[in-house]
Amino acid sequence: MEKQKKHIIILGAGESGVGAAMLAKQKGLDVFVSDSGAISDAYKKDLRDNKILFEEKHHTLEHILKADEIVKSPGISEKMEIMKRIREAGIPVISEIELAYRYVKGSKIIAITGSNGKSTTTALTYHIFNQAGLNAACVGNIGKSFARQVASAPADYYIVEVSSFQLDDINQFRPDVAVLLNITPDHLDRYEYKMENYAKAKFRIVENQTEENYFVYCKDDPETKKYFNRQPINSQTLPFTIMETLQEGAFMEEENMHIKIDEDDMSLSIYELALKGKHNWYNSMAAGISARVMQIRKGSIRESMRTFTGLAHRLEFVATVRGVDFINDSKATNVNSVWFALESMLRPVVLILGGVDKGNDYSFIQELVKEKVKAIVCLGKDNHFIHEAFDKEVPVMVNASDMKDAVHTAYMFSEQGDVVLLSPACASFDLFKNYEDRGDQFKECVRDL
Ligand code: ADP
Repeated sequence: MEKQKKHIIILGAGESGVGAAMLAKQKGLDVFVSDSGAISDAYKKDLRDNKILFEEKHHTLEHILKADEIVKSPGISEKMEIMKRIREAGIPVISEIELAYRYVKGSKIIAITGSNGKSTTTALTYHIFNQAGLNAACVGNIGKSFARQVASAPADYYIVEVSSFQLDDINQFRPDVAVLLNITPDHLDRYEYKMENYAKAKFRIVENQTEENYFVYCKDDPETKKYFNRQPINSQTLPFTIMETLQEGAFMEEENMHIKIDEDDMSLSIYELALKGKHNWYNSMAAGISARVMQIRKGSIRESMRTFTGLAHRLEFVATVRGVDFINDSKATNVNSVWFALESMLRPVVLILGGVDKGNDYSFIQELVKEKVKAIVCLGKDNHFIHEAFDKEVPVMVNASDMKDAVHTAYMFSEQGDVVLLSPACASFDLFKNYEDRGDQFKECVRDL
């Protein structure tokens, strides 16, 4: 009798769900995609072109419960009814990166996670691998899904940006290099509001690693340190720090960054690095270690660290207008990111702050604001938390109604030699479509000055 095809159901038809569906179909599985919302036209086209059946705006429970296996998209929470029923029925659930991993043979995987800096570090690491002439792909949250890449253009090196949601449903996923940048409170609603659960999810990146693999982590990060010993780590650990020198790993000595592996030291001046700011020293160290353990030549790494242009909306330089620099850090949606942005500013700052506050503790940036910020322009529908936090600290506090108003007001309060920094500490959806829209509007308004 012919063996029945494995029946796989994919929940969610965004980039990872559609990528997973395409890969599963290509590998001969019986695939069905179900999304409780509307599926975008572009993704519907992908599904139809690949002859993949799907439903949208509802889940047909009887059908879903017949699956041999479920691939769950990262946006789907365990609290949803459909997940409760799947768990009750005991159907195995995996994430899209787990599915992709099954079909990766002989390639190397560099997986990058953390609360902040993932996209920057993933893009920089990819730049280094790509410039070194390797057949590398940059995948995950940052753009194309891992599964879509494996289906459409297999690579020798996969540089994967991994979220904690993707790690929640891994099983065998074993990166050759796992990078954990930092752990600060984020997405706690999906982790029963327990930091411990969120930290554990992040540490799952090492779960299947063996002594042939590497774990690259930040030795200065308090939460990483706190949870470090709570699970076995079998891989070779390579820390990075800016607080002390190390026998092995990455560290700073005055203005030089060292990446030292097996007694072999490589050093770079911070002035050579294209990415500025302390947070980017960390990101550069993580990318540099990953490249060194994969045997990329030092000269090539150095050149790539010098030429990397950075990503839009992350401390992105926009223009200088009559001696005032404008910087777009729209991606800074929490106070931790703003802290690093302010920390890297060398001139007086007019700060554009505000949006949808996800429960910020502004005391975290109070000292830096006092020291560096001469005026705050509040850009949100409700700015009272910002006023409460800074009215006594900052001489000028003004509200703006839209981006044009914010840019003009900030410009008015600045003088030659100042910096106008958009680093909002908040989500953007009160006044903008998303952080990209907010950053794009900022750039447009600056160019119109
Ligand atoms: P992610 O992909 O994790 O959201 P990004 O690279 O997009 O991270 O950066 C998001 C924000 O965090 C930016 O505003 C950036 O300035 C800040 N940031 C980048 N790297 C770090 C880091 N290592 N630590 C803290 N903040 C960082």
